[in-house]
Amino acid sequence: MLNGKVAVVTGGSRGIGAAVAEAMAKNGADVAVIYKGSAEKAQAVCDKIVEEYKVKAKCYCCDVAVTKECAETVAKVIEDLGGVDILVNNAGITKDNLLVSMSEEEFDAVINTNLKGCFNMIKACSRNFIKKKAGKIINISSVSALLGTAGQCNYAASKAGVIALTKTTAREFASRGICCNAIAPGFITTDMTSSLEDKYLSSIPLKRAGKPEEVASLAAFLADSASDYITGEVIRIDGGLAI
Ligand code: NAP
Repeated sequence: MLNGKVAVVTGGSRGIGAAVAEAMAKNGADVAVIYKGSAEKAQAVCDKIVEEYKVKAKCYCCDVAVTKECAETVAKVIEDLGGVDILVNNAGITKDNLLVSMSEEEFDAVINTNLKGCFNMIKACSRNFIKKKAGKIINISSVSALLGTAGQCNYAASKAGVIALTKTTAREFASRGICCNAIAPGFITTDMTSSLEDKYLSSIPLKRAGKPEEVASLAAFLADSASDYITGEVIRIDGGLAI
């Protein structure tokens, strides 16, 4: 159970992040929902959490790609909710293109949000975790990092970077009682995958897409004391796609 804990979930306004925010609350945590553009959706996630699970939930507009915004937002969360115990780096974007056609802007935008965003948020929370001598950091990577999906050189590289960042963070923070792990989802039904064709499903051994709630259950396990001896790990949740 996560009673008395505070979870920060980036990209908590939609998709996997909204499900993660709800799973944290269901397990008793107060939740900070970080979003960039979807203010109404973020507020709806908070309202649902407060109503159903009787915990505190607040939403914060913050572009995770901007270092200063992350530092200011985490400081505000600590002021409002009393600290941070769990950080879920879930915010992510795609800007797909074949490598030869990919622009510098497409490459930089994806690296800055998906990879630098994780670094920004970990750094912003690190002093608080070190002071508490505890903390759970969960980074959402992707099977694209393991497979190198065609048309996603920016995205796959950003998510592979997230895995390396996870392992280094786990090593650097282990002596402080802080665990850092990554989740590598396969094809999960959200806005991000809404344009992908059903033909992709046939390549998944379990023959179906995953649900945001399934990723959220794994995140809740990695946030819980039940997983205290797991750090620096990458867990695939992909129906067998990357076996
Ligand atoms: P989604 O439905 O497109 O939602 C993306 C979320 O990220 C939104 O809440 C969005 O907030 C937020 N976001 C985007 N850019 C941001 C920024 N610069 N600062 C703060 N928040 C930002 O995506 P999803 O499918 O749930 O994916 C969630 C994570 O799982 C991503 O990291 C993605 O790469 C990863 N993943 C997804 C799949 C999949 O099949 N869906 C597979 C593997 C990995 P606003 O709407 O407020 O802008």
